[in-house]
Amino acid sequence: MDTHRLPDTIDGCAAQRAVPFRRGGRLTALGAALERLFVWLRPWLPVAHGVMFVGFLAILFVPLLLDDPGAEDGPFDHFTVMAHTLLWGLWFPLAFLSVVLTGRSWCGLLCPMGAGSEWAGKVGLKRPVPAWLRWPGTPVASFILVTVWGQTVGVRDHPEAAAILFGSVFAAALVIGFLFGRGKRAWCRHACPIGLLLGVYSRLGAVEFAPKRPEPGGDRWTEKTVCPTLIDLKRKTESRHCIECFRCVGPSSQGGLYLKLRVPGTEIETVSAHNPSLSEVLFLFMGTGVALGGFLWLVLPSYQHLRMAVGDWGIDQGWYWLGEPGPRWLMAVYPERREVFRWLDFILIVGYMLSWLAALTATLSATTAASAWLSARLAPGAEWKARFVQLGYQYAPVAMVSLLLGLGGGLFDTLALLGLGPAAVLGAKGLCFALGALWSLRLGDRLLAAQGVPATTRWIPLLPGALGSFAIGAAWYPALFGA
Ligand code: SF4
Ligand code: SF4
Repeated sequence: MDTHRLPDTIDGCAAQRAVPFRRGGRLTALGAALERLFVWLRPWLPVAHGVMFVGFLAILFVPLLLDDPGAEDGPFDHFTVMAHTLLWGLWFPLAFLSVVLTGRSWCGLLCPMGAGSEWAGKVGLKRPVPAWLRWPGTPVASFILVTVWGQTVGVRDHPEAAAILFGSVFAAALVIGFLFGRGKRAWCRHACPIGLLLGVYSRLGAVEFAPKRPEPGGDRWTEKTVCPTLIDLKRKTESRHCIECFRCVGPSSQGGLYLKLRVPGTEIETVSAHNPSLSEVLFLFMGTGVALGGFLWLVLPSYQHLRMAVGDWGIDQGWYWLGEPGPRWLMAVYPERREVFRWLDFILIVGYMLSWLAALTATLSATTAASAWLSARLAPGAEWKARFVQLGYQYAPVAMVSLLLGLGGGLFDTLALLGLGPAAVLGAKGLCFALGALWSLRLGDRLLAAQGVPATTRWIPLLPGALGSFAIGAAWYPALFGA
């Protein structure tokens, strides 16, 4: 049997197969070699998932069995420090950064949670995916919930909190898979907060899986597919749902999909042909805002002033419960480590993060709306809403860097552990941000060019976009360089 023979549903029809397929994109020989390598490795993926599953459980739960590390202990002195470094210093930031080079390779090749959810779907109830799960806002809400919850439980500082949060997300992946999986990854497609994040930024990536025999009609969700994330393969134009599992790829087949290498950013520069979506753009704005809030409440004096003022006011009202600690699954209550959040802290952290979310979403929506309006004046044609959605993607690089600095800030701690001084670490953060902002500017320019705005006047609608990037930079300044 030819192991590369694909099912009839995705292999081309006889007439199409008569015309030989020609590989597109850049570095085609490298793309073909990578494709052959990973298709050859594909039978071993369950082993990789099993190893990752055991490693993930060890990182989450072994620290709960150990005494706390000493203040001077490094990763090689104490397993808890090693687990923390692996989780926050390597996995989280590198999973982010890897999308620019390899797309969602983490999801398809290594993630134990997605593989577990798919397995649960094979043995589960196989119910139809409900409308609430398919709603585009579900993964956005899931991301915001998990990010805020991570802050209130102190996920980066307490191993118990990491076990509670990641253990709950893992359990949710298994339950959704068990109920609605049908042998696919309904969780990965519709609800995973990390998947949404990686999916949006995979649009920036250098790897795409493209149909060899594309059909018109645009991207669609379908259950009649070999794709675990329910992509209608022949109509696939966007990268965000593709987890790079290689199941639709047969190097010797004339149908199915193939691995295409491209210049990073290409998909966003031409996003109108790649199923742009308002929910994704709003996620870019909201995700950046909530990550910023999660960092700024720790460093801005305004948060402490607010806390004092609200605390005093609460006492005046006789609301003494505000000073009581809540349950550990909701907020950090670790007197042995001298950190005890009270209901006051919980309410204020949630409120502060959501306020930043609202403020940044409003700011970036306003700058994008202005860009779209100016673009429509300078190059009449497409409607304003379509321009707004396309131009919203210009913030993808700067938003990615924001999330890297906020949620994946452990990478910079790891750089410090490797011997980089504080000034060099600060320089690395500043450089990351500057590169992200420049890339955003470049994307704004390309998107406006695609909307037909002439080169001579393009700086006019580009200006609001640059102001938006500047606003993000200004908001991050206290977190990067001190208030
Ligand atoms: S979408 Fe989430 S659960 Fe699925 S593979 Fe990616 S990170 Fe893992
Ligand atoms: S498009 Fe292909 S490689 Fe991507 S997730 Fe679906 S089956 Fe896997």
